[in-house]
Amino acid sequence: MTRGGIAGGEQTGADSIVVSGGYEDDEDYGDLIVYTGQGGNDPSTGRQIADQQLTLRNAGLMKSRLEGLPVRVIRGSHEGSAYAPETGLRYDGLYYVEDADHVVGRSGFRIWRFTLRRQDVAAPPWGSTAVTPRLPPEVKQVTVLRVIRNTATAREVKEIYDRCQICELRRDTPAGPYAEGAHIPLGAPHRGPDTLDNLLCLCPNHHLPFDVGAITIADDMTLIGTFGKLRTVPKHPINVEYVRYHRAHYAPTA
Ligand SMILES: [Zn+2]
Repeated sequence: MTRGGIAGGEQTGADSIVVSGGYEDDEDYGDLIVYTGQGGNDPSTGRQIADQQLTLRNAGLMKSRLEGLPVRVIRGSHEGSAYAPETGLRYDGLYYVEDADHVVGRSGFRIWRFTLRRQDVAAPPWGSTAVTPRLPPEVKQVTVLRVIRNTATAREVKEIYDRCQICELRRDTPAGPYAEGAHIPLGAPHRGPDTLDNLLCLCPNHHLPFDVGAITIADDMTLIGTFGKLRTVPKHPINVEYVRYHRAHYAPTA
């Protein structure tokens, strides 16, 4: 039931992970790794046989995400990754946890899925002769904690409100009011649709807690994790399916 690959704990963040196969939901794109948390799997087959909990080292990786701490990635030789070394173990540099969500894996059990992106001054050891990374098409931007997609849709939702839908704070800057377009299910690497019914207008103080599941929204738009209701207007209906997805994937205990 242990995943020896994750070092470090709840208090300090995860120092390092070893990517060496054994989890059926892992995906390796080189600079981007979709990494299954520990627990709930049969070590002999790699199959999940129970839900994973946000405890122990999974909590460590979540801590790394929330505090923007680097995680050292070591790849071990194994089948199933074009980026693994041919033999032994290899240090592959610093990665940052860009996203963490609680999703149903291939076996039907819930896993904690961590998306890590490489940000290291050193060139990757697999070099430019390796296979072309088959990155999911929507994963392009590099950020440590959050992806803020400043799309036309995001500009539209900001024009509708020009202030935060949670606290109604309007942040004025010399360049005009500042707000962020927040996509409701931001489940990397499968990001939610860039549509108005999947977008909120939030201030920076509420965007991050929303992204990490500290604030969620009930079906009737009551806020969970803070007081009050989400401010909405008739011309901007929120799709309740996305709100449910966000609750289930980012705050499974809410
Ligand atoms: Zn706010």
